Amino acid sequence: MVSAVSFRDVSRHFGSVKAVDKVNLDIAEGEFFAMLGPSGSGKTTCLRLVAGFEQPTSGSIEVFGDNANGVPPWKRSVNTVFQDYALFPHMSILDNVAYGLMVKGVDKQTRQKAAEEALHLVALGGYGTRKTGQLSGGQRQRVALARALVNKPKVLLLDEPLGALDLKLREQMQEELKTLQKALGITFIFVTHDQGEALSMADRVAVFNNGGIVQVGSPEDIYKRPTTKFVADFVGSSNVLPPDVTSKLIGKRAWASLRPEAIGHGQGSGPSVTGKLKTRSFLGSHVRLGVDVEGLRIHANLPADAPVPAEGEAVTLCFPVEAIHLLDDAA
Ligand code: ATP
Repeated sequence: MVSAVSFRDVSRHFGSVKAVDKVNLDIAEGEFFAMLGPSGSGKTTCLRLVAGFEQPTSGSIEVFGDNANGVPPWKRSVNTVFQDYALFPHMSILDNVAYGLMVKGVDKQTRQKAAEEALHLVALGGYGTRKTGQLSGGQRQRVALARALVNKPKVLLLDEPLGALDLKLREQMQEELKTLQKALGITFIFVTHDQGEALSMADRVAVFNNGGIVQVGSPEDIYKRPTTKFVADFVGSSNVLPPDVTSKLIGKRAWASLRPEAIGHGQGSGPSVTGKLKTRSFLGSHVRLGVDVEGLRIHANLPADAPVPAEGEAVTLCFPVEAIHLLDDAA
């Protein structure tokens, strides 16, 4: 099957800055794909390459199997929702949504109908006559989405589209976006530096660092089976164990990750460590312990009602052998 978007050895350098460096990636049609990574890791540049706002320094971008190099943005079956939404404040919401069709020369009646349909899709039917200033942040986000959807793109690019929203609204919009994407069947490529957002929304996640992709996989893969220290550290809140520690615990000299929720309190049948309880934070659904074990801070998430010693006291932590996941970094 032909991919919706492919990166073939794509680099985009700005002088000596390798914003994107030798990226190879295939994104399937209908996939909700997240590009996740810290600031400056090259995610936005990748999105701009797909949109056509940037051209590769070398390599090629393919959209549905066709080489898109040199094809201008408006000739690609791709649309972008920007973080700042870029709405026109003096125009009505309906005109904002219909704008792209107007530029394309679509007649007024047709474009208004299409804009109304798009507003309906994002649950803003009936809001068309308002100005953007009369909307909440979440509603503005939906208008920006409707404005992209009205063009019936095959691929929708979203650059931190929920960044401006408060946490609660953000969570609500995450669910709405996911539902909408599945209903429409459009390929979504989503850029975020928020690992929770990437894991909860995407079918697959690419983790970026320094202009390259360090791991691609399902949210579960990325979370449970990180391949490197970087991914283990950036995605979730894994404990990263140095080779000496792993060696003591399971007899293998390798970097390893150990997820806080896989750790229990007291002696179990698997390996255990004893250290001093330094911090204890109640987080509603669980208690997070910070335990110093021979200079290494280990975090453990225990059930909220688990009996836990006081700060400063000795505490023993245990975990099943399988919870220690070996990483590829050189020991
Ligand atoms: P953020 O999450 O902060 O948006 P990002 O992962 O999207 O970061 P990019 O915006 O793709 O990262 O930038 C990658 C690198 O390329 C950065 O070092 C950035 O400064 C550099 N860069 C991006 N665009 C340009 C440009 N037009 N000219 C020069 N350098 C650029």
